[in-house]
Amino acid sequence: MELRFLGAASTVTGSQYLLTTKRAKLLVDCGMFQGQPNEALHNRVPPEYDPGAIDALLLTHAHLDHCGLIPLIAKRGFHGPIYATAGTVELATLVLLDSGKLQEESAKRDLRRDRRDHGATDDEEAAAATKPGAEVTDPERPVIAAIPGIDSMIALPLYTAAEAESSLRLFRPIDYGTEIQVAEGVRATYYDAGHILGSASIRVVASDGDGTPDRVIVFSGDIGRPGTSIVRDPTPMSDADYVLMESTYGGREHEPQQEAVDFLAKTVQLVAQHNGVLLVPSFAIGRTQEIVYELDRLLESKQIPHLPLFLDSPMASKATDVYRRHAEYFDEETRKLLASGDDPIDYPGAVVTNDAADSKKIKESPRPYMIVASNGMLTGGRVLFHLRDLIDDPTATLLFVGYQGEGTLGWHLQNGAKEVRLDGNVRQVRCRVRSISGFSAHADESELLTWIGNFKRGRMPKKVFIVHGDPPAESALEPKVRALGFDTRVPAWNEVVPLD
Ligand SMILES: [Zn+2]
Repeated sequence: MELRFLGAASTVTGSQYLLTTKRAKLLVDCGMFQGQPNEALHNRVPPEYDPGAIDALLLTHAHLDHCGLIPLIAKRGFHGPIYATAGTVELATLVLLDSGKLQEESAKRDLRRDRRDHGATDDEEAAAATKPGAEVTDPERPVIAAIPGIDSMIALPLYTAAEAESSLRLFRPIDYGTEIQVAEGVRATYYDAGHILGSASIRVVASDGDGTPDRVIVFSGDIGRPGTSIVRDPTPMSDADYVLMESTYGGREHEPQQEAVDFLAKTVQLVAQHNGVLLVPSFAIGRTQEIVYELDRLLESKQIPHLPLFLDSPMASKATDVYRRHAEYFDEETRKLLASGDDPIDYPGAVVTNDAADSKKIKESPRPYMIVASNGMLTGGRVLFHLRDLIDDPTATLLFVGYQGEGTLGWHLQNGAKEVRLDGNVRQVRCRVRSISGFSAHADESELLTWIGNFKRGRMPKKVFIVHGDPPAESALEPKVRALGFDTRVPAWNEVVPLD
């Protein structure tokens, strides 16, 4: 029996692990590499396995860096079931359809840019963009050689919206806490990871069928923070032979939730006083709902004035609908609010902008106002339209409420860059830049250590693999996990480890 680390090894994206027993092959997660351009190239490396030979895929949650390559392996022959909670299935549906659309759009943009660089006329460009079959099906083909004069590699879509849609038929919704047979000799149980709606840590019991003992492997998925709003706390786990634990916030502590809420209130008050604009880059799923929840609470308790709120992310509003449909996943407090007739993930009078034209009109609104827009690390999305208008505006406040991957625009701004490159232009940073870490959907270091510490109560794992972290986070966390008495390993990308 062996485990191969196909992603999220010394990085926070591209989660994918291949478990091979003598009788079965399973993937846990199949995420997209995001962030720095070099990392995204990993998405184009052909897989180390035959997708058609995989018996099943176990999906921890719906974030793109955990599910984003599902349509790609499905078009390459994977046809097994994908097990996920019902909430994850619905959210992953949104994420994958959107991703397919974005893949097509960005490929068309690249194609146009490349043709322009090679002197194509507008007419030729238009003809190329509308030509049927422009989506070449093999992303690895070193491409578009048929267009004269183009010799460079053009990124084709990894998959199309239609291919994303076709992969959805493989999803099988399952419940938390119920053990299911997922392949010959392999059973799995999903536990609430408290990260986003439907998120799970997965406990796998696998047998080679040759008389050797079963191996119990726990895949942490992304571990949430205890005490955050809307979703429940992560379920404590214990007893495993092997644990794969995420380490996004190794070496770092979040401020307490209450401090985060207070800081949010203070920031909104300042924006109101300065007649400014508050721009919150936010992930559409999880963080946006949490921020709206906190703004609604603050308004209810009269700690902030009633500023107009623009929710500029169609995906976020669809995700909010999924949250509403799955109140069974909410924590006690949120359920109480619901029962009292309050809609806790709704800010009074919030304007949801569904099309890009409405999004562009937001800047004409009378100030002060607030915008929550995707994406959270400023690597794309509508938030960039607003940043373009606000970056050199001293009355504007850019408020980060989530993780900024190393090297992203968000990371540079958060680290105090005085000028940054935006759309290829160098821009001065004159807006206020603030950060709140307390709204993280990820456990901080102490919380991670508490999570792994629970395994000391039961069977001691033979090995704890530290995954899903940038190198500084992984190397900060590893010695502390070891100090708790665990044997640890930080696996490299593509490393194969035998599970005896
Ligand atoms: Zn996640």
